Amino acid sequence: MATLRLILGDQLNYNHSWFTQQDDAVYVMMETIPETTYVTHHLQKLLAYLKAMRNFGEYLRKKGYSVIYLSLNDSQNRQSFRDNLLKIMQQHMITRFEYLEPDEYRLDEMLKTFCKDLPVESRMVGSEHFLTTRFEIREFFKGKKQYLMESFYRYMRKKHRILMSGDQPEGGLWNFDTENRKPWDGKATLPDPLLFENDCTDIYHALLEMKIPSAGSAKPDSIGYPLNREQSLQLLQHFIHQQLEYFGTYQDAMTVKDKYLFHSRLSFSLNTKMLHPKELIDAVLDHYYAHPEKIPLSQVEGFIRQILGWREYVRGIYWDQMPGYSQMNHFNHQRPLPRYFWTGDSRMNCIRHCVSQTLETAYAHHIQRLMITGNFMLLAGVDPDEADRWYLGVYIDAIEWVEMPNTRGMSQYADGGIMASKPYVSSANYIHKMSDYCKGCHYSRDLKYGDKACPFNSLYWNFIDRNRELLKTNQRMGMILNLWSKMPAEEKAKILNQAGKYLEEIEAL
Ligand code: FAD
Ligand code: SF4
Repeated sequence: MATLRLILGDQLNYNHSWFTQQDDAVYVMMETIPETTYVTHHLQKLLAYLKAMRNFGEYLRKKGYSVIYLSLNDSQNRQSFRDNLLKIMQQHMITRFEYLEPDEYRLDEMLKTFCKDLPVESRMVGSEHFLTTRFEIREFFKGKKQYLMESFYRYMRKKHRILMSGDQPEGGLWNFDTENRKPWDGKATLPDPLLFENDCTDIYHALLEMKIPSAGSAKPDSIGYPLNREQSLQLLQHFIHQQLEYFGTYQDAMTVKDKYLFHSRLSFSLNTKMLHPKELIDAVLDHYYAHPEKIPLSQVEGFIRQILGWREYVRGIYWDQMPGYSQMNHFNHQRPLPRYFWTGDSRMNCIRHCVSQTLETAYAHHIQRLMITGNFMLLAGVDPDEADRWYLGVYIDAIEWVEMPNTRGMSQYADGGIMASKPYVSSANYIHKMSDYCKGCHYSRDLKYGDKACPFNSLYWNFIDRNRELLKTNQRMGMILNLWSKMPAEEKAKILNQAGKYLEEIEAL
């Protein structure tokens, strides 16, 4: 009996039970052209993924496992999962095939179909990563139209006994949002980011040789993301000791002075499964209970909500809603994505800053993604397919199961409100409140019309006006619709005229 076990690129789970004892299975990992080109990926993302996969394959070999690793430019590589697997199965006289539960719908379907036609036994094995099953959310929200994250989060806190005193939340509150989310005021010392220097030049040359397209820039000999478990653990410790103390306070702040503020940059390690979510939660809790005088509960709760709440929640939405989710377009938005999303070359300082940072680092934090780039795309009526392709390509942590609900659902409201109770749109007011972007901008945040008027202002009202029929059933939009309807007709006309002009000349903004 020879068993073949497939490990996908985001299944680098060093602690999976497959690897707790020696066996005579053959493990296969492969890099293929279709996986590197299904969207235009950021160069750092390509380098980081492939290097992390190679590191994992090497780790397994050193532990004594039999590993077949097909690199991108390997002459034996048939550049398709199916063809590679069939060839290996034949060569090694495989009598059983096993694979880990994929997180992407596309790969799940592909592997199911592949197994149906196989003449040998096959089975899917749990990835041993998430804190919920694929369809736990479907059960939890059965019969509900809107899936409230907060109620799911409370369920998770109780289920996993995290930050609980008996059946009540520790500290008396389920969330400490009111104490968190301040703009950057420079009062806390900013830690130096922990950037690794991973040499990926071999992979870079392979990408060039294979003519794989990419976006953004990279120093191939010095990739700063954690690319193995040891580095991932170091980054976790760095976060706990240097950033946790202010994580919640400045979670929504944006400044030209710093890229990361107190954000952990742990998403790549988590999404490739080099770290387990429970491991993060336990490490944060251990540190908090050991230093309660230093680490406020509000910071700890704020971080745990992201991992135990949001991350599991978006995965549940994805599996509950796929495949239909990828087609949803509630506002019927059709506009192509402006070119400056691939260059950063815009006069809007907020867009220029967030896009340039993204192209330089493959990273932007949540509020930059939601309230700058996402907000602009929604106001301008960008096609959600274009939005998805951009977010899926440019971010280091972008894998469809987590990218799509965040983009199409939370950010673009294309799901009509399954995730968000109202569209996340704002004028310059919010951006000015939470950032220092407006200070150095070509446009004026106070103006709604005129040559220097901030595009976010007129586009905001244009969004409200053009979607008023769809928005009027949403109670949370009532006040703003009312405000718009009471605005003098002349003022409205000037604003809509300005918005029309900006939309016509969108590439020049
Ligand atoms: P931190 O701010 O340090 O947060 C800690 C961790 O919490 C993150 O590493 C992440 O694992 C988790 N987390 C926080 N918010 C979310 C969320 N909304 N959904 C899922 N996990 C969350 N996250 C991705 O991992 N991949 C994506 O492709 C992705 N695309 C996004 C697209 C848009 C439009 C938006 C608005 C958000 C997206 N997010 C995505 C969520 C979030 O922006 C990132 O998880 C976060 O910025 C990663 O940086 P960090 O590790 O420093 O996070
Ligand atoms: Fe962005 Fe408008 Fe502020 Fe300029 S003025 S940074 S475009 S919000």
